[in-house]
Amino acid sequence: MSKAETRGKTDQAKIAMSEEEWRSKLTPEQFYVTREHGTERAFSHPYYEEKDAGLYRCVCCGAPVFSSETKFDSGTGWPSFYAPANRGAVSEHDDRSFFMRRTEVRCAECDAHLGHVFPDGPKKPTGARYCINGVALQLDKDAKPAKGGK
Ligand SMILES: [Zn+2]
Repeated sequence: MSKAETRGKTDQAKIAMSEEEWRSKLTPEQFYVTREHGTERAFSHPYYEEKDAGLYRCVCCGAPVFSSETKFDSGTGWPSFYAPANRGAVSEHDDRSFFMRRTEVRCAECDAHLGHVFPDGPKKPTGARYCINGVALQLDKDAKPAKGGK
């Protein structure tokens, strides 16, 4: 478990379920990543090289969190985006676990841990690299991709 502090405003998650409820709803790997702040192995999830259009939904609650429109190949082995699906789709938190200072990214709806954001993304348009666990996402190919916004 990492200690994460909420930055600035109080962005309370809108969906609250008990650990038991999440455990019964998710696969063990989904639970480990999203509810226990785990990280999948690089190149382990096919979404890192997924090119199809659509909306990436939170695997826990179905909220659209990322979009094929802002996805890029970072070469890291994790799905990478330069912006969330829309403003307010994710929340960002200071994460000081493992003696590093990183910014954790969570689903704004249910607080699922999705990954981290780093300032070394493509300079245009945002410079951000959202490094996201594929197991935390569900690609909805029927949904119209969002332009993305931050
Ligand atoms: Zn969610």
